[in-house]
Amino acid sequence: MKNRLVVIGNGMAGARTVEEILGRGGADLFDITMFGDEPCGSYNRTRLGRVLSGADSEDDIFLNSLHWYRENDIALHAGVRVERVDKFSRHVFASDGRVIQYDHLIIATGSHSYLPAMDGLYTPSGTLRQGVFTFRTLDDVRRMMQFSQQKRHHRAAVIGGGSFGPDAAHGLRAHGLHVEVLSGSRAIAILGDHHITGVSVRNQPDIDCHMVVVSAGSRPNVDLAVVSGLAVERGIVVDDHLKVMDEDDVYGVGECAQHRGEVYGMVAPLWEQAAVLADHITGSDRSSMYLGTRTAS
Ligand SMILES: Cc1cc2nc3c(=O)[nH]c(=O)nc-3n(C[C@H](O)[C@H](O)[C@H](O)COP(=O)(O)OP(=O)(O)OC[C@H]3O[C@@H](n4cnc5c(N)ncnc54)[C@H](O)[C@@H]3O)c2cc1C
Repeated sequence: MKNRLVVIGNGMAGARTVEEILGRGGADLFDITMFGDEPCGSYNRTRLGRVLSGADSEDDIFLNSLHWYRENDIALHAGVRVERVDKFSRHVFASDGRVIQYDHLIIATGSHSYLPAMDGLYTPSGTLRQGVFTFRTLDDVRRMMQFSQQKRHHRAAVIGGGSFGPDAAHGLRAHGLHVEVLSGSRAIAILGDHHITGVSVRNQPDIDCHMVVVSAGSRPNVDLAVVSGLAVERGIVVDDHLKVMDEDDVYGVGECAQHRGEVYGMVAPLWEQAAVLADHITGSDRSSMYLGTRTAS
């Protein structure tokens, strides 16, 4: 009898961990089920800027196609969100009504874009207003490209000059837009009633623009862990085996995880974490430990 392994999150960390598990004979040990909120296989998020600029096609950035999951006998529920885990009866509850039992659970829910407090970001119903974009997913990129291709949209502001803001700016410039990049702390409000007309900036004249991309960092996706009663501080608290604190068979990996007080926002740590988790869960090396990554935070 194989154990039931459920993985929540089909991003770079979730998919890489499953690859590492398969590489250690995991197909003989586990029946694997994955849930991914995004309706596709796993892709290289670091290359989203290249898709935006047109240097890469969407197909170029896929790491695991839907075919790969079928080939490896993985039941992937793409486009399905897990809403809650019952850690006592060991079930996950998904947005499509599915309830799946697990013996081992891996949470790899990643992060979402941080939106700094600013007037004019939201509609009265609380959604992002038309012309405001985050820069996190393939869907974000598709929507940005569609919007920027409309004739009257030829000026953009990128708020958040941090790690990935310049990628967004470069990508939009490739579509012929004039782009200004400004730091999140300087932007006060997005201007315009029906359409965006600009951004008001501290101690500086307003910037004229028709679209705004917010790329001001990210925050771990921990809501699921919080409602499920797991240990959460900034991220889901894991030990040196990537096991969630105080739980026997629940693991956390990638940007959603907090290890020794650190939450990472780069790929290198999640590669290392995935290997240790796989060593541990397959039993191929139970002494394997993740001690933190020095090169990225
Ligand atoms: C534009 C951009 C450029 C980047 N460039 C670099 C770079 O150059 N170098 C670098 O090292 N890093 C870079 N990064 C960071 C890197 O991409 C991330 O560190 C990495 O993708 C994190 O992987 P993850 O799987 O932990 O999280 P994510 O990639 O966020 O994946 C988590 C997945 O889980 C899904 N999910 C969340 N909650 C649920 C739920 N309840 N149920 C089901 N599914 C759920 C999400 O939809 C998502 O698909 C970049 C990131 C961005 C956005």
